[in-house]
Amino acid sequence: MRKNMILFSLVLLYFVAFTAMGQEFPDTVIGISLDDYRVYLKTRAPLDRLYSRGEDCFFLVDHNELQQVEASGIEIRGRTTAPLVGSAHPVISSAQGDINGAYHNYNETGLLLRELETRFPGMAQVITIGYSIEGRELNVIKISDNVQSDESEPNVFIVGCHHAREWISVEVPLLFAKYLLENYSLDLGVQRVVDGAQIYIMPIQNPDGLEFSLHTYRLWRKNRRYNGDFIWGVDTNRNYWYMWGYDDNGSSPYPESEVYRGAAPFSEPETQALRQFLTANPPVGSISFHNYGQDILYPWGYTFTPAPDAVLMYNIAGQIARRIFLVSGRIYTYGSMVTALYLSNGDFTDWVYGAFGSPAFTIELSPEYMEEGGFFTSEQMIAEAFAENLPALLYFVDYFISGPDENQNPLPPPEKSWEKGFFYLHQNAAQK
Ligand SMILES: [Zn+2]
Repeated sequence: MRKNMILFSLVLLYFVAFTAMGQEFPDTVIGISLDDYRVYLKTRAPLDRLYSRGEDCFFLVDHNELQQVEASGIEIRGRTTAPLVGSAHPVISSAQGDINGAYHNYNETGLLLRELETRFPGMAQVITIGYSIEGRELNVIKISDNVQSDESEPNVFIVGCHHAREWISVEVPLLFAKYLLENYSLDLGVQRVVDGAQIYIMPIQNPDGLEFSLHTYRLWRKNRRYNGDFIWGVDTNRNYWYMWGYDDNGSSPYPESEVYRGAAPFSEPETQALRQFLTANPPVGSISFHNYGQDILYPWGYTFTPAPDAVLMYNIAGQIARRIFLVSGRIYTYGSMVTALYLSNGDFTDWVYGAFGSPAFTIELSPEYMEEGGFFTSEQMIAEAFAENLPALLYFVDYFISGPDENQNPLPPPEKSWEKGFFYLHQNAAQK
């Protein structure tokens, strides 16, 4: 009886809490011209940017933000309800219908990593580098010959899933780890990178957020920090130290924002763990996977001033784009983060480049637009995304062993990249 009362009270409390706090998830996608958005940013907080198309940028907004945009008087060019987030879909699923289909959740990822460690004891080692806010393991798998010893080989770091809803960004790094181990004895190219480098792969940077996206709200982005006032989440990809909080356009000081940068640099256990781990194992190169947009981006994100190694990173990004194009014919745009008109500060790549001076890339996986699925990548897409990124990943690791080999693939960059990339930036800069 007493037990029942307690249970009843808890259930009641749960409903009251949810009603009272009006926890409202963003459910509308709006388009705004880039010029209008720049004007908007002068007086208001940044919005959750999903993708760009031509002169328009598309954002996921909640009711309050929508009212703010309307009140600002700027033109809303297109408005649609975000797919599958209405009240009719309390639990959101994979494109195939069940909760995550072939996608790996936190537990499944952990199991696969441990299985690989067991199957390949000399080459794979799972390292728990910390714990998330809700106590989940933050796991990195190290892949190298003589994996138990720290050799004087270049450290290459690959990470996925800073952002909870970007499920496919777990798969590409995870499948890369599996591929390296399973093909070591079959493929000389694989052998070369495993023998020559120490490859660190972290499929899930934000496990709490991923689980929340799986079970509660499919479009969840941040981690699960409780900020008070019934507001949750820090954007862990705005929480890194370098140029943290540089301005309020590239990140937000407001907890309710989808790009909330947290109370201080490295305030989150998910970023603290990486600070500690990468300081002890400084990377010579790194890639952070996201989706969507089909972009390859490099620092800086916080400023329009080109990074000292902008040309080097531009060339590497171009080589990555070429290799992807050769596999699938998909065109990934490349350029610095601001080329993609994606101002950000406190993100992973700016920190890695700023702190370690090594080339750092964000790869926004397929698709390019929301109409092609957006975050709702199909199960079939897992194999496609991995296949199209595999030669690029092998090239990337090998670059730090063998150096640039630009003649390996003399294909010119996809034409559209130039239009949308540097050319576009210069065009915009010239207009300023
Ligand atoms: Zn992302």
